[in-house]
Order: sequence, then C-alpha cells, then structure tokens
Amino acid sequence: MNNTKELKIKDSEYVWHPFTQMGVYTKDNPIIIEKGKGSYLYDTNGKKYLDGYASLWVNVHGHNNKKLNKAIKKQLNKIAHSTLLGSSNIPSIELAKKLVNITPEKLKKVFYSDTGSASVEIAIKMAYQYWKNIDRNKYSKKNKFLTLKNGYHGDTLGSVSVGGIDSFHQIFKDLIFENIQIESPSIYKSRYVNEKDMIDSILNSIENILLERNEEIAGFILEPLIQGATGLFVHPEGFLKSVEKLCRKYNVLLICDEVAVGFGRTGAMFACNHENVQPDIMCLGKAITGGYLPLAATLTSQKVYKAFLSDNHSINTFFHGHTYTGNQIVCSVALENINLFEKTNLIAHIQKTSETLKSRLHTLKSHENIGDIRGRGLMFGVELVKDKHNKVDLDINSVERIVRNCKENGLMIRNLENVITFVPILNMSNKEIKKMVNIFEKSLHNILDGDE
Ligand code: PMP
Repeated sequence: MNNTKELKIKDSEYVWHPFTQMGVYTKDNPIIIEKGKGSYLYDTNGKKYLDGYASLWVNVHGHNNKKLNKAIKKQLNKIAHSTLLGSSNIPSIELAKKLVNITPEKLKKVFYSDTGSASVEIAIKMAYQYWKNIDRNKYSKKNKFLTLKNGYHGDTLGSVSVGGIDSFHQIFKDLIFENIQIESPSIYKSRYVNEKDMIDSILNSIENILLERNEEIAGFILEPLIQGATGLFVHPEGFLKSVEKLCRKYNVLLICDEVAVGFGRTGAMFACNHENVQPDIMCLGKAITGGYLPLAATLTSQKVYKAFLSDNHSINTFFHGHTYTGNQIVCSVALENINLFEKTNLIAHIQKTSETLKSRLHTLKSHENIGDIRGRGLMFGVELVKDKHNKVDLDINSVERIVRNCKENGLMIRNLENVITFVPILNMSNKEIKKMVNIFEKSLHNILDGDE
C-alpha cells in the first residue's frame, strides 16, 4: 500500500474534521497536504495546488517563508513557553506594543488568546463586565448585544450567541443567550431597490432599538465591512461609520470583529481604517501570525481597561485566561509577520492585486450562472445561481462539483453554500491571481456548460 492510501485510511479511522459531515467526507477522496511553498500547497502525491483560500483566510507571505521560519527557530532556541499568569515574556510585550501602534488609536491594551472564537468570547465578557465594574446598579440591565443577521463570530457558545447563521447556530438555541438581531446591510437578494434606501432603513431601525433599549444593550458586535462566513456580504460605504456614531450617541460599546478582515484582507491594514472608525474593542486572529500558528487578541481602549483596575485581587478583576495565553513562539512569528507587512509594503501590493482580481472576475459577469460578484481587497465572493433574474441559488451539488474540478485543475478553493470564495494568500502575484480565476473559469465551463 502506498503512503497516501495508508494515510487516507488512518485519516478516516481517527480524525474528526471540523465543519465537516464525516459521512460524506470519508466516502470522498480527500487531499492530504504534505508541504507548502509560496502560493502553493503540495499533496502526498506531489500534485501542487494554488492556495486560493489562503489555508482558511490566514496565509499572508506564502507557505514555508524563510523569515517566518527563522523567527520561530530563533525563539525556539530560547524558550517555547512560559505563562503570562503573573509573569511576562519578551515577545508578548513587543507584540502588544506593535499591535497598539498599528491598530486604531483608541485601542491601548492587548489581551491574548488562541482562536478567533476566544477573542470574541473575551470581548463579550469584557463588555458585559465593563458596565458592571463601572456601576453595578445603574447598569444592571446592560446584558444584551446588538448583532447582525447572518453574522459569524466563531463556534464557542458565547460567540455562537452573537452569531446569526441559522444553519450553524439554530441547533444550539437552548444553550445560548439571546441577542438583538439587526437586518444585514447586504443588497443582493435584499428587499431594497437601492443601497441608499437599504442603509437609511437599517440605520433607522438600529437607532429606534438603541433609543428604546440602550439600557439593556452592553455592546454592538459586528464584522466590519464584510460579513465573511455567511457568503462574503459586503456592506455599503458609510454603514460602519454610522454604526459607530450611533453607539457613541446611545452609550453602547462598539466591538469590531476583525478576525477575518484584519491584517490587510480588505486592502487596508484593518477594515476600520477605511472609515476611520475607533472601536472600543477589537478582535483579531487568523492572519495575525501570517497563517503559521494559532493566536488571537482582543484589544481595548484605555477607558475599558481602567474599569477593571483596583487595589484588590478580587475586585473588578477580569477572571479569564487560557493556558497558552501570550505564548512566546506564537508572538514571535506574529511580530515578524507584521514586520514583513511593513518591509514588503504589502498593503500597496494588495491594493494592486485587488484590482486585478476584481476586473478579472468581472469579465465573467455575463455568464448565465453568475448572479453576483462582490468583495473588497482580496476577499471576493461569486454567487452562483440557476436563475439570474429571480436570483435562485445554483444547486449545491453543481457548486461542489465546480469546487472539486478546480482542485483537479490545481486550485484550492472553497464555497460557502452557493458562493465561491476567492480569498487568496495576500502576497500572491498578479500572475497567480489571474491563474486562480482562469482555473475557476475553466471549471465553471467544464461543469455548467457541459465541456467535460
Ligand atoms: N470571527 C470571524 C469574523 C470569523 O470569520 C471567524 C472564523 N472564520 C471567527 C471569528 C472564529 O475564529 P476561529 O475559527 O479562529 O475560532
């Protein structure tokens, strides 16, 4: 038996994959990745694939990057891990300073964790406790969060509670706390004729809720500019800024979950930068380590931080922390990731390749099964439809066949229901970006136009 065959048997015998129906997966012919170099992944048979989903929206400077590898090895020679509970370490201090420097000015303190979900969990708990620490009686009812329909903030119960994707979250409804959900400002398939009407109507309903219920609302949590996991819903310009103003007016904390959109993904270092928004709390994860290791961070303003200070261990303390919080190796690679952003002028590169991706995708617009093309930076979704006029989704079987065909043709890509997502490695060249869309176009024709 060759190595790949043996590994596939062991994989289906021992591994339970995330977000995966194992009954289907084990009957499929899964790809087993052995190594990576630059923009490519290589499987155990030596076949190479362009990484069109940046290994789940995380990879920044390419796989097997010499500088990132070196940063890890250098730190390994000193120490792998010591705890941040009651002591500190060099990389976590340096990284916190760097994060405070590059994020919106208002954010002054960094609380580390290991996954995007945990960073959101922390943000929720912080926002809730903030009001209690300030004045337990006055703010006794500030226990709820405003959220967006179809929002996604992770898979732990707190982050599920502020999520709004029924297919993921409905089953857990008896375990989660109630949130107040607002219609998502996403025009395609909405009931609005234009963006202006949509944004006016949604902002109006947000203001009405805040006016009536601000005493109950601790914070407004949202994915700024693009709601990712739901199918890359892009918000109209100005929506985020208006939300910020409403939060200020009605004394509610603004929590921006930049786990997916942070670190260059939308063409600015952070999505908040596009509209000069200053959140009270910001969640970071995914690309923070350049796609190398798990790290997340929740950043807060000085005002939020100060509400947790006292001279007594048991008063106002934030009782939250994970074992590997602020791990040295993870923080070292994150620091080098950010240094490389600066050294390679990556944001300017993303702005150029974004134009390439956008214009190349738009050449496909007339295809009868392409209903919508939307995105920003290097985060685009192509919504596949059966009926363009009535915006009826393409059946999932055909969508999955297209994705499979892309893989056969050397492109790793993912779909979110009937939306094909283009979320490539951030330093991909123009040529590779074009190649990614060429492969997709070929597979689209192969499956839908009967060329196969
Ligand atoms: N927030 C957002 C906006 C996300 O997209 C994700 C993951 N895709 C998360 C939180 C959760 O991150 P993690 O998977 O690292 O827990």
